[in-house]
Amino acid sequence: PKLVYDFAEGNKDMKELLGGKGANLAEMTNLGLPVPPGFTITTDACRAYLETGAVPAELADEIDHHVHLLERKMGKKLGQADDPLLVSVRSGAAASMPGMMETVLNVGLNDDSVNGLAHQSGNPRFAWDAYRRLIQMFGKTVLDIDGEVFEDALDAAKKAKGARTDLDLDAADLKALVETFKRAVHEQTGREFPQDPRTQMDLAIEAVFGSWNAERAVLYRRQERIDGSLGTAVNICSMVFGNLGMDSGTGVAFTRDPATGQQGVYGDYLQNAQGEDVVAGIRNTVPLADLEQIDKTSYDALMKIMATLEGHYRDLCDIEFTVERGKLWMLQTRVGKRTAAAAFRIATSLVDEGVIDTDEALRRVKGAQLAQLMFPRFDADADKQLISTGIAASPGAAVGKVVFTSAAAVEAADRGEKVILVRRETNPDDLHGMIAAQGILTSRGGKTSHAAVVARGMGKTCVCGAEELDVNVAQGTIKVNGTVIEAGELISIDGTTGEVFRGEVPVVPSPVVRYFEGTLAPDAGDDLVASVHRLITHADEVRRLGTRTNADTAEDAARARRFGAEGIGLCRTEHMFLGERREAVERLILADNDADREAALAELEPLQRGDFLELLDAMDGLPVTIRLIDPPLHEFLPSMEELAVKVAVARERGSASDHDEKLLAAVERLHEQNPMLGLRGVRLGLVIPGLFAMQVRAIASAAVELRKQGKDPRPEIMIPLVGAVQELHLVRDEVERVLAEVGVQVPIGTMIELPRAAVIADQIAEAADFFSFGTNDLTQTTWGFSRDDVEGAFFSRYLEKGIFAVSPFESIDREGVGALVRTGVERGRATKPDLKVGVCGEHGGDPDSIHFFHEVGLDYVSCSPFRIPVARLEAGRAAL
Ligand code: ADP
Ligand code: MG
Ligand code: MG
Repeated sequence: PKLVYDFAEGNKDMKELLGGKGANLAEMTNLGLPVPPGFTITTDACRAYLETGAVPAELADEIDHHVHLLERKMGKKLGQADDPLLVSVRSGAAASMPGMMETVLNVGLNDDSVNGLAHQSGNPRFAWDAYRRLIQMFGKTVLDIDGEVFEDALDAAKKAKGARTDLDLDAADLKALVETFKRAVHEQTGREFPQDPRTQMDLAIEAVFGSWNAERAVLYRRQERIDGSLGTAVNICSMVFGNLGMDSGTGVAFTRDPATGQQGVYGDYLQNAQGEDVVAGIRNTVPLADLEQIDKTSYDALMKIMATLEGHYRDLCDIEFTVERGKLWMLQTRVGKRTAAAAFRIATSLVDEGVIDTDEALRRVKGAQLAQLMFPRFDADADKQLISTGIAASPGAAVGKVVFTSAAAVEAADRGEKVILVRRETNPDDLHGMIAAQGILTSRGGKTSHAAVVARGMGKTCVCGAEELDVNVAQGTIKVNGTVIEAGELISIDGTTGEVFRGEVPVVPSPVVRYFEGTLAPDAGDDLVASVHRLITHADEVRRLGTRTNADTAEDAARARRFGAEGIGLCRTEHMFLGERREAVERLILADNDADREAALAELEPLQRGDFLELLDAMDGLPVTIRLIDPPLHEFLPSMEELAVKVAVARERGSASDHDEKLLAAVERLHEQNPMLGLRGVRLGLVIPGLFAMQVRAIASAAVELRKQGKDPRPEIMIPLVGAVQELHLVRDEVERVLAEVGVQVPIGTMIELPRAAVIADQIAEAADFFSFGTNDLTQTTWGFSRDDVEGAFFSRYLEKGIFAVSPFESIDREGVGALVRTGVERGRATKPDLKVGVCGEHGGDPDSIHFFHEVGLDYVSCSPFRIPVARLEAGRAAL
């Protein structure tokens, strides 16, 4: 295949091949926007390199050809001593991974051509600055030299000169710095900095390919669930220079505010600077609006281009640009990352502006974003000690102990502590710490700084550029307005306002939650709530999947109902056997004759009935699926070890009670090596006479009672862990007998949570009025994973090794467990075409899984009350 594409040969839909950056550079080129000429090496080439460890042979020829074309177009050659062609070598994968991989600027400079560049530009300072940047970036990313080697040398040069910023260094200083850098390269690698421009380029290309598998890139992909086998493209782009003087500069911009979605001028600009300077917080940037004063021509051109891009992409775009001596150049664009609130606001604004329709708006918001909007906020009325205000970079309310390093953040998080990572500025190596922290606070950098961009991408709270804070990582202190905060102290940061508080600030429900609760009207003036209301309403109109909740108490049921639940998909009755009722359960287990057992059951029945009365009442008129008791009974007894010790001690003293002796015997008798696979579910009903009957009587009589009160209870009885239709027939007979005694009809269904049940679902459907997939157990039994044992033990390894991209307990494993679900639905409906089928595992609230359940034709998903809005939204999106 063709491995290299000129920018003019691609377009925005070729992301997989050209990467996002390359595809969009091509798109902008073809829109006639000012993009410096260049070409893109495909992801195919990268994959070949990663597989074989060598650059494919035909690639070199294609690159030669394209370099040649570029030289012709630019009228100068790579390495030409009097006027060199310089290029950047830039990574760019299909999915945006901001700052995760490598880019090298100014490739093509060497000891000769630096003089040519100085002469040609009339600006020796610029030429030496470009050269020192090349050696620094090349040294760090291609030669793997610790970046601090160069940073320390730069700091030393500044100190020697008494310079405040890099701008105070003149040509001679930078020339000296180049010598220092070259010496460092030699010391660190035993080799000279390569003088041949083509060698520089080839090594940089390989380094970009290799950076796909850099640790931080791997970690980022895992966090964002990006496929690790895709590879990155490489863009070779002719250089334009923002560091030619104060009439030059570099910046980043958004076509709307990525934090709120508001239209306006958003971005940061830095005069006399190159590349990453803007986001690295090296010097303080100015707001983009100031560019109008600095260089009106470039500003106007940029505004026009931003409008063009928004119109073209029909969405918020983010942009990198450079001004070279009054001439604007576009270096990157993409549909921009945004906060959850901005996603909703932008989607509905675009509908109002007539740019997209409501279906498209719904496609553009995600359940995960809605979930974020439901996080609590700081209580405005609480006492709080404001210590400073920075830039509101990524919303949320985060509280935690101050840590100053990524390592400390990770350690603390491993101990289960909540932390705020505080840095002067973050860099890509801080990713571990950012993931581990509740929030991120920096003293430098704007809305487009590394911390801000990455935090927004992860949905993490971030306040950046809190300049009053004097962050001293070495001492582990923050000094601010005369006070000192030390590592380990609690602070609270508000990513919506930029405020930083000392201590822990209490939180209150978010407006979006208040809207769902029904205490804040959609038209009360909160435009975010109005957007959410419009899109969730549309989702409700288009979705086919019903949304039920998993709830065991009337309180949860009522809340879920306010959130839009259309019934209960799973009520776990075992929670009704806890607390004071444990003693009755104990008597039930210890009973060695019918009379004792019946007495214990008789004691439990009215209690259960009371629970069902409340629950059915809270869900009046809607289906309530009640699962008969599922866990092994020894879970209700004391632990064997503790009891054995207690009894042994008592025996020593000759005071062991008869009850304890009996209890210990029972505990020993019931002990199981593999409780998950033991005496539980339907097996309990078949082995312990009267247990299921008691539960059914409680359900049925509660329904009768409510009906007498003029209500409309709709219980459904669900039998867990069925693997053979014979089991279900036997239990069903008993359940029907009890229902007939009480005189009510109640649908009787089963859970499909064993692979065998899915496979013989056609038989099981004969005895079931409905199915509900218990995908937690189905995942355990299909993989042979005991969830509680494997998650802590080795799942992180499995994720690292790419055995799966996400835990199968979090998101349904479509190939394995999903195939069983599909089979179960098909075979069940082959027997009973209108068999009602739902899912009640935790996957019912997971966006990806919801899309899968829609595809395989389930009737409803059931999830925890708080996930109901997410499920409604995603069920709507799945139906589009
Ligand atoms: P990232 O993917 O981390 O954004 P980029 O490839 O976009 O990395 O490059 C890093 C920085 O260098 C950006 O600020 C970009 O605008 C700048 N840059 C890249 N190529 C050029 C070029 N040809 N001329 C000037 N600046 C460039
Ligand atoms: Mg970029
Ligand atoms: Mg189960």
